[in-house]
Amino acid sequence: MSAGSTNLERRILRRAGQAVVRYGMIEDGDRVLVALSGGKDSWTLLHCLHALRRRAPVRFEVVAVTVQPGFPGFDTGPIEAYCRARGYAHFTEPSRIYEIVEARRDPASSYCSFCARLRRGVLYGVARREGCDKIALGHHADDLIETLLLSQFFTGEIKSIPPVLQAEDGENVVIRPLCRVFETDIRAFAAARGFPVVCCGCPVCGTQQKRKQVKALLGRLEAEHPGIKASMLSSLGRVRHGYLLDPENRHRRHGLAGQGRAGAVFASER
Ligand code: SF4
Repeated sequence: MSAGSTNLERRILRRAGQAVVRYGMIEDGDRVLVALSGGKDSWTLLHCLHALRRRAPVRFEVVAVTVQPGFPGFDTGPIEAYCRARGYAHFTEPSRIYEIVEARRDPASSYCSFCARLRRGVLYGVARREGCDKIALGHHADDLIETLLLSQFFTGEIKSIPPVLQAEDGENVVIRPLCRVFETDIRAFAAARGFPVVCCGCPVCGTQQKRKQVKALLGRLEAEHPGIKASMLSSLGRVRHGYLLDPENRHRRHGLAGQGRAGAVFASER
């Protein structure tokens, strides 16, 4: 690798390592299941976790799984061959995701959200079966800030993608070690390393209009005002609750439970 790409790798590893430590993602003895779709993000994630494992002060295992959704044309062969050549623990998990989405999806609902829910279900089951303590996903910094804007623009909420999430099944814990790594670095790194990036073959891949528009908007803003994306990422960790419209803020401010003093007065006067 060239000096440039070595610096790039250092930067990615530093930011991923900081995220792992800051959010307490990995503990001694953990077995981490990496969701390896074969895209640039999941390859970079797998590479990072193996590199961090070699230098971490705690011991942890990394095992990668590729969920085969059954989309026509999705070939897991190059993924399996690369992992075998690198000596990475990896297996392919068959599933009926495509068949189920096609047969049961409500046409008015989102293809992606149904597919993602089924995929999560497969991953949670695999993690339980394989005795994995954490499930690592390849979401990166751009995913976080795009989701923040999408939530504000289209659902009227301020929220994004958490770095660590206790899954809804109450058992699995999802971690996102690339949450502070920007996509431009990941794209350049995946190309420099020559990861065998494969397309998932799904019928809607790359067609999510709103996300594409938000990504393009952020790209234009970043070109005009370099540093905007970094500032947005940083804002996700520095929420000033008292300057938002959430009524819960009143309770935080006064340290009061329930409706607070004014609420109690109104209630007693009823
Ligand atoms: S982009 Fe394709 S593979 Fe990804 S969640 Fe949507 S439907 Fe599923």
